[in-house]
Amino acid sequence: MDEFDLISRLNEQTVPPEGTRLGIGDDAAVLDEGRFDLLTTDVLVEDVHFRRDWCSDEAIGWRALAASLSDIAAMGGHPGPYVLSIGIGDGLDDPHVESMVQGMRRVSEAVVPEGAELGLVGGDTTSTSGPSFLSIALLGRAAGDEPVWRSGAEVDDRLVLTGCPGRSAAGLELLQGALAPDPETHDGLVEAYCRPRPRVRTGSWLGHRGIPSAMIDVSDGLAADLGHVIEASEVGARVEVDAIPRAPRVEHVAAASDRESIPWLLGGGEDFELLMTVPPDRMDEIHRRAEAEDWPISKIGVILPSDEGVEYRSQGRTLELETEGYEHTWTD
Ligand code: ADP
Ligand code: MG
Repeated sequence: MDEFDLISRLNEQTVPPEGTRLGIGDDAAVLDEGRFDLLTTDVLVEDVHFRRDWCSDEAIGWRALAASLSDIAAMGGHPGPYVLSIGIGDGLDDPHVESMVQGMRRVSEAVVPEGAELGLVGGDTTSTSGPSFLSIALLGRAAGDEPVWRSGAEVDDRLVLTGCPGRSAAGLELLQGALAPDPETHDGLVEAYCRPRPRVRTGSWLGHRGIPSAMIDVSDGLAADLGHVIEASEVGARVEVDAIPRAPRVEHVAAASDRESIPWLLGGGEDFELLMTVPPDRMDEIHRRAEAEDWPISKIGVILPSDEGVEYRSQGRTLELETEGYEHTWTD
């Protein structure tokens, strides 16, 4: 197959989403006027961001779109049309690309069941003598009057996290062959790495209600991403590390490999959970909805004035984080 065969097969498999007058087929996609106000892009390079011996092609496509879906969720938005640029290097053939695009459709169906505005509307295709790469640019629409910025956190807001962090990092550890596969833990964590489920419905609901004062998705690791909010909002924070929920499988892998799980909780990226700051008088609303929808939500800390810095506490003591690595020490 050549490039044009591939594009026409992608076109056959693709339905232009709502809000799109024309998807694949002309020099540019044509969208309804004034509909989308968010735009994000991610690039994934083979052997830097993905390895084809760790994940299937379908899962590589899934992860690629998941990262962009998570960015839109973290702005409190609904996802919209996206374009896919792909550089086809050695060993990647058209059927592999089609599997990747199928993975993008699958993550869409899995995490955005009612996402009629979400879909592939174009892209660019090239061959390359270097590593293969994928790049997605995804539009979105703020679900509320305003997007949710990183910069809105206020002193006394509560720090709230969805889900259990560290699952993707532990899954990656397993993929790297650190431990003999144990069916009790292996599949769930490798799945967390290969097919992360960004909190698209939670993010758009929060944005629609205007509940978080600030929000970010955990893509670099909880501590690093909290750092981005703290810096943008010019505040400090105290994190109660013991209030961060721990996935039993992560604890199991940590124990089996003779290490602590805290570095995975605070440093593991790509879980695509949402970390937000919530004014105290909006906490009831979020708890009620989380209970009704079965969303795992935890209050893990509080926002402080900027001169107090960021403190991580566990068992009544301050935890010194070494940001460069997975090591940490205690101070009293
Ligand atoms: P041009 O030379 O104008 O860039 P292309 O031949 O690259 O045109 O693209 C033709 C059509 O196919 C365009 O509508 C483009 O958006 C679409 N397209 C190209 N590559 C991809 C891809 N990887 N995924 C989806 N659509 C694509
Ligand atoms: Mg082109």
